[in-house]
Amino acid sequence: MVKLQKDIDAIRINTRTEELAACSSTSVGVTRLPFTVESLKAERLVEDWMKAAGMTVRKDALSNIIGRYEGKDPTAPVLMIGSHLDSVIEAGKYDGILGVITGIEVVQTLKDNGIILNNPIEVVGFCDEEGVRFHSTFLGSKAIAGTFTAEDLERADGQGITIAEALKGIGIADPYAYREASRTPEELFAYLELHIEQGPVLEKENEPVGIVSGIAGATRFYFEIIGKPGHAGTVPVAIRQDALLGASDLISYIEHIAIKNQPLVATVGKLNVSPGASNVIPGLVTGTLDIRDLNVDRKKKAIDAILTESERVAKARGLQIRFEQVMEADPVYCDDRLVAVIEESISELDGSVISLVSGAGHDAMAMADVTNVAMIFVRCKDGLSHHPDEYVTVEDMGAGARVLYSTVIKMATKQY
Ligand SMILES: [Zn+2]
Repeated sequence: MVKLQKDIDAIRINTRTEELAACSSTSVGVTRLPFTVESLKAERLVEDWMKAAGMTVRKDALSNIIGRYEGKDPTAPVLMIGSHLDSVIEAGKYDGILGVITGIEVVQTLKDNGIILNNPIEVVGFCDEEGVRFHSTFLGSKAIAGTFTAEDLERADGQGITIAEALKGIGIADPYAYREASRTPEELFAYLELHIEQGPVLEKENEPVGIVSGIAGATRFYFEIIGKPGHAGTVPVAIRQDALLGASDLISYIEHIAIKNQPLVATVGKLNVSPGASNVIPGLVTGTLDIRDLNVDRKKKAIDAILTESERVAKARGLQIRFEQVMEADPVYCDDRLVAVIEESISELDGSVISLVSGAGHDAMAMADVTNVAMIFVRCKDGLSHHPDEYVTVEDMGAGARVLYSTVIKMATKQY
């Protein structure tokens, strides 16, 4: 990489994460739900930083904040860099916002070095990715990708406030103008997102930065196991139809299948036992199964194996077992050519190239509907995320931003 006159300022990135972390409705961790006093405060800070970096700033109908650094050719497709500004409840300081702050830092560094690229760059802070308030996903990026719908505006939060009402509440005059927020594939060059890893691999590999090969697809099931309740003291164990023992067999088998098919992951995250008394044999168990993998075939085979095993368990224990699929999200593959550019950037900055599959969803997933996407992961301590102790070192923030900067320069100059 060409030696920069003015380098990425990792201290500034860190200071800004602290300033955004202060935009929180809880004193423990960061809680910044979309379309709230806290989110408006965060948007104002981001707007100031974007302006200082030489960008023109606008907000769309979903309250996505978008800064544009003009290119030599203003009609050339836009290189978009982004991530989300919202958080879960009592979250950490870096999930989402690190991608926005490093995007701004990249543009600030271009400006400080007097560099104007051929293509315009836009940095986006998406309004809502986590979906905590409205039980949704990727509201902001869906609006830009053109997959947001009028029904989405009618989604209500726990207080019955719809997205449309919440947007009006923060001063968005016409939320139905969301259609104008969408971009066409012709308008976009690519979408780049830097995000914390939210897992332990980079720490284990002792590398600050990694490349994402793709975002795993996910299938979610609701399941029901019907047995026969009875007195815990009087029904002999050998003739029971215990729904919880059926669940136990099945959950052990799910773990076995996941281990056999790594990096596939499978989780039974919720279980209800009825009637739920210490002296009654469980007659009914309901639960959820979440399976994720980048490899569609492998995921399908694993699901088939689990369903077959459920029939065997049902027969062996005299139970009825029913699975209902409630969600299916296709995997997203990061663009090979973009991945190659990021690899080159990491190598030039003396890093080893570590390729990772993201098991968590990201805005890049929604943006893949409209343009090529790629992601850069930055190491976080103990792989911990969605927790107040989420932590990224200043050095790692700087390393991630440098890879992002180098990638942006290469993409804009190599006629990618
Ligand atoms: Zn995130």
